[in-house]
Amino acid sequence: MPDRFDHAGNLARAGDHRAHRGAFWPPAEAHALFSLDIAAAAPPLDAQALALLDELGRLIEREWAACKASPPPSRGRFHDPAPVADLLARLAEHLPRDADRTALRLRAAAIRAGYTEEGLRTLAALDEDLMVVIGQIATWYGKQTGGLPTAFACRRDEAGAGVIGAACGQLAAVEACFRDLHTHLRLAALPAFVPTRLFFMAGEGNRHPKHIAYFLPEDEGVKRSPYKKTCYFANTHAALVERVSLAHARALLDLGGPLPGTVAALGPIPTLGVFAHEAGHFVHREGGVSFQGLNAADRWTSVVLQEAAADVFGLLALAEVLAPAAGATGEDAVAYHLAECLRYVDRGLGLFPDSDGMFLQLAWLADFGVLEIAEDGAGRAIRLSGSPDAVLAAFRALARVLADTLLAGDVERSLALARDFGPSGGLRRLAPLVARLAAHPATTIEYLQEPADAARAAVAMAS
Ligand SMILES: [Zn+2]
Repeated sequence: MPDRFDHAGNLARAGDHRAHRGAFWPPAEAHALFSLDIAAAAPPLDAQALALLDELGRLIEREWAACKASPPPSRGRFHDPAPVADLLARLAEHLPRDADRTALRLRAAAIRAGYTEEGLRTLAALDEDLMVVIGQIATWYGKQTGGLPTAFACRRDEAGAGVIGAACGQLAAVEACFRDLHTHLRLAALPAFVPTRLFFMAGEGNRHPKHIAYFLPEDEGVKRSPYKKTCYFANTHAALVERVSLAHARALLDLGGPLPGTVAALGPIPTLGVFAHEAGHFVHREGGVSFQGLNAADRWTSVVLQEAAADVFGLLALAEVLAPAAGATGEDAVAYHLAECLRYVDRGLGLFPDSDGMFLQLAWLADFGVLEIAEDGAGRAIRLSGSPDAVLAAFRALARVLADTLLAGDVERSLALARDFGPSGGLRRLAPLVARLAAHPATTIEYLQEPADAARAAVAMAS
């Protein structure tokens, strides 16, 4: 079995797992599992709607197996689109709101014949409450590129929508914070960000590990569409933060004060943190520079640095503007971010660009003495200590370095930054942390989605 922390070995196989059919990725001798009952987040739907979702799950699993057996006719298409499209058209009849019915009919049409510009524009403008998304949806970049059949349904999270609405009102202050860091930095317009509660998942998206967000329509295989919507699963993310990130933080992190004990104690921070990370992807230098040169030189490293930059700018926006504006503290924002760094690194190295990017941030903090790593006699980390202020100061410095390397299109210095702090240059000061994480299997969520009683009754009546 491959070692999830064997960066070079894993990277050599990146994107090359098309034949992999197991439910768990990367393959490992053991996985730690916990369950999240997503069906509990389902809105009140009638029994036929629930039975149709159940049937949709079976169709998508069949399509997933067909796509594993032979590649789909083209990106975005199913082997057998008609039964899925027919079912979606029937399901649309049972949705309570007009906008949701229209959206699902458009998606049914897209399953049949692909998206049209008109369809995408209408979808982007619709204010959906209940979203059902189906397609050849992107999976993990290190697993395989392109998409695999996935269907999910989620419902807008009203509390999260309020948090994001208020945060959107702070974007001028966020941009001012970036300009303060570096006079040439700007923030581009962001796509719509929709916090939701996931209540149904089938196909590739139901394998392990789980995604906390999908970027529509890009993840559906439609590149460079001006109509973008980020669909964020607040319940999935909250469960991961509580069960994995905060558990690691409690075991390892000492920031000089009490850590948030539960995800509830973090208040709006997880939702704002993902939004801030997304805003971090839209930070650029005045005049704009593309990542083309770096992509051509080393695509994986380019994505690692882009994810690290989104995290670094995101944390600064979160700690300095968004969290305080929402009544939370910068200290809790730092605790959340470092806890998330531990969760991402725990998934392994050379497997997920964002995990490698989180490693780079922790290595930056460790190399500059901002995070002191104490270890036991066996060389395993027992404590990572630092102060939130020092962490933020170090992230400001890293943000300026990223602005003058990655964001300036300087290929050589970007590659040097990744070599000096990323996992490609070895584990170095983070070796005790990796040794500690490697002592336990990676943790992943199993979605519980038992059909509700009403759906079971409807299936029984139909058969
Ligand atoms: Zn990202």
